[in-house]
Amino acid sequence: MKSHAKVVVIGGGVVGASVLYHLTKAGWKDVLLIERAELTSGSTWHAAGGMHTVNGDPNVAKLQQYTIELYKEIEAVSGQSCGVHITGGLMLAGTRERLDWLKMAKARGRYLGMDLEIISVDEAAKLFPLLEKKHFTGAMYDPIEGHVDPYGVTHAYAKSAQIGGAEIVRHTRVIDLKPRTDGTWDVITDHGNVRAEHVVNAAGLWAREVGRMVGIELPVLAMEHQYLITGDMPELVGKPEQLHAIDFEGEIYIRQERGGMLMGTYERAGVPWSEVTTPWDFGQDLLPNDLERIAPSLEVGFAHFPALERAGIRKVVNGPFTFAPDGNPLIGPIKGLRNFWVACGVMAGFSQGGGVGLALSRWMVDGDPGADVWGMDVARYGDWTTLAYTNAKVRENYSRRFRIRFPNEELPAARPLRTTPIYERLAAEHAVFGDYCALEHALWFAPTEAEAVDQVSFRRSNAHPHIARECTTVRDHVGLLEISNYGKFEVQGPAAAEWLSKIMANRIPSVGRIALSPMLNDRGKLIGDFTLCRIAADHFFLVGTYAAETYYLRWFERHLPLTGVTVRPCAMQYAGLSVAGPKSRALLQRLVREDLSTGSFPFMSFKRMEVGMIPAYVGRVSFTGELGYEMWVTTEYQRALYDLLRRAGLEHGLRSFGGRALNAMRIEKNFGTWAREYRPIYGPFEAGLGRFVDFKKGDFIGRAAAAEEKDSGGALRLVAFKVDAADADAIGDEPIWHEGKVVGWVTSGTFGHRVGASLALGYVPGSVAAAESGFEIEIIGERHRATRLAAPAYDSSGALMRG
Ligand SMILES: Cc1cc2nc3c(=O)[nH]c(=O)nc-3n(C[C@H](O)[C@H](O)[C@H](O)COP(=O)(O)OP(=O)(O)OC[C@H]3O[C@@H](n4cnc5c(N)ncnc54)[C@H](O)[C@@H]3O)c2cc1C
Repeated sequence: MKSHAKVVVIGGGVVGASVLYHLTKAGWKDVLLIERAELTSGSTWHAAGGMHTVNGDPNVAKLQQYTIELYKEIEAVSGQSCGVHITGGLMLAGTRERLDWLKMAKARGRYLGMDLEIISVDEAAKLFPLLEKKHFTGAMYDPIEGHVDPYGVTHAYAKSAQIGGAEIVRHTRVIDLKPRTDGTWDVITDHGNVRAEHVVNAAGLWAREVGRMVGIELPVLAMEHQYLITGDMPELVGKPEQLHAIDFEGEIYIRQERGGMLMGTYERAGVPWSEVTTPWDFGQDLLPNDLERIAPSLEVGFAHFPALERAGIRKVVNGPFTFAPDGNPLIGPIKGLRNFWVACGVMAGFSQGGGVGLALSRWMVDGDPGADVWGMDVARYGDWTTLAYTNAKVRENYSRRFRIRFPNEELPAARPLRTTPIYERLAAEHAVFGDYCALEHALWFAPTEAEAVDQVSFRRSNAHPHIARECTTVRDHVGLLEISNYGKFEVQGPAAAEWLSKIMANRIPSVGRIALSPMLNDRGKLIGDFTLCRIAADHFFLVGTYAAETYYLRWFERHLPLTGVTVRPCAMQYAGLSVAGPKSRALLQRLVREDLSTGSFPFMSFKRMEVGMIPAYVGRVSFTGELGYEMWVTTEYQRALYDLLRRAGLEHGLRSFGGRALNAMRIEKNFGTWAREYRPIYGPFEAGLGRFVDFKKGDFIGRAAAAEEKDSGGALRLVAFKVDAADADAIGDEPIWHEGKVVGWVTSGTFGHRVGASLALGYVPGSVAAAESGFEIEIIGERHRATRLAAPAYDSSGALMRG
């Protein structure tokens, strides 16, 4: 084994092998993969090898498409067969909701260029004669589904990487990792040490153990997973290979395996494996079968596909593989560690392994993953992911793998975990809570305890009239909203302003003022949107998206000078409340000594005030589009502030409102939000944030690319629509049609209660963005006429907010 390498990849499963290949392809030849046993010795070797393109996150779906297309390439480079069987696949629906879900998946596939088709049960039975028609209501056909040989794929990646210059060492275990002060690593193995510039943790079943070597606890857990193979079936003799099928109601997947069928299940009573540590002596082993555990799924499976029962069970496989709490991979660099990368938690290695390798290798070589990988970024998790939290969420995710997640559905596992001081107060107001980064926050308020439950639906739900009342209260009187679930940072020091000016695209506000600013990467794409509040010349309070806290910190860390600036994340130290609506000023004025008139405390002002007895930062901003104030207090004061505002609000008709009403109101104002309108695939001018990019202030990260975008106008444009919808509004990811062609996608949708219309925001090419008519938005399989709005639906001049 060599003593130095630019990169050491730990783990020779399908993921590590793919990372290795992609690194060589990107031009890094001095790369070494270290494998404890033989290649595939983790979860890879006993995988069923199934692959498909459909994924809830369109960006992950794109990487899955890439993975499947890649097999031809690595077969050609390596000469090793991947055993690819593209059979086509059926997703079978047994309920109306599932059929709706499939229609939405098909619609989403349109702008990804996927060729998906909704078919009848009769058509499905023609394609897949093993099914018993009476159990199904329809199906979606995907021509690009099938399976591969896990051994063949892993070795094809490995051989291709070796041809590209990589080295692979087997039967060598990494036992420790030691960082050096120059940012390189000592990789300690049981067969000598290697000095590496970069280390990639692709240790699959042992990713947690390798993480612990560098002091991190990665939120992954292995679950036991079983599939069975039937005896040979006369029904298959002389027939072309059967399609893949997913039977959602049975929670099973099935495909042909030689003369029989393979049937696997994501049973509800899933069992984790090695909950705390993974034994190092686990090799190409299988776990004992537990057919009793999967009996309910098998029973349904045999009823839905009777020929399988007749054929009998020839073999059962029970093996472990890892999941992150949301079931998506964990990739990227780790905050606080130099040159340490992860590529783990990949639960669908044969659909996603190629995409993961591509994104990670680009990130390492170019400093940027080159695609929108937010849904897979390891930084989407923070320190709330304790072992027990991960355990609860992974079990839940596993048991729900084939179940529908409705847009208004909040999942119950690991809750409540994090709460703010007013949690009980909000519960007493019949709040229906949502979970955001394990923090409870009010979504909407019901009139009675009995009504405080979301009836899950793709259509307007039971919450609709209550959210309407919250919005109209904010429009006509004043509403109270908890805003603790934002990310907050204190930035201090003599170089703070200069540094912020470098990493933020907008000008830095003067003392006592607020500025909104996009944060751009070197390619001029949006990687954050912040509210910058200046407390003093050398002291700033930043508000951004809480889910992206680690993501932001990782970026800040990369760009922080050695001295002169400190950045302190303080999201949970500051709780927040906001009052919004025409009566908010009168309400707050009674509680503070400062003059709140627009002349003295205009829109975008920020000041430390005493609200009653409570020290607070007060900002005159509002995400609702109404006159409004945001108040930030250290957590111990939040309850007193809430009580004070409630009491003072009595005479003004104050009511609490929740996140759903806020979402509806921000869409009425065309205000975007992170992970929806603002993502690293959009530029600031495309996203309508051009006015927050200040080219006069000197250099900042992304300036040159932003200037280019300004000149060219960018490829896309964020556009607002009024939709002629009936009982279901857009929620996000629906296709936007223009003149009969799919031209874009929705990022957010809602019913706008203040304007009484169904609304959507979405991206379309710049060339059609100005079209007066001809737009349609496809909601649950039906196209609805959409009218482009030239200005925000509500208070287009912004007079209410500024007044
Ligand atoms: C029963 C079953 C069925 C499945 N079916 C499918 C399917 O149909 N389709 C699909 O896409 N996926 C399927 N999967 C999941 C698939 O197996 C995983 O997505 C994939 O194997 C993950 O690969 P990996 O490289 O991340 O991890 P692993 O395969 O676990 O590889 C990690 C490697 O790292 C090595 N390693 C770990 N620590 C060290 C160390 N310290 N030093 C050196 N080497 C180390 C290990 O020996 C191992 O070889 C299935 C899994 C199971 C168990």
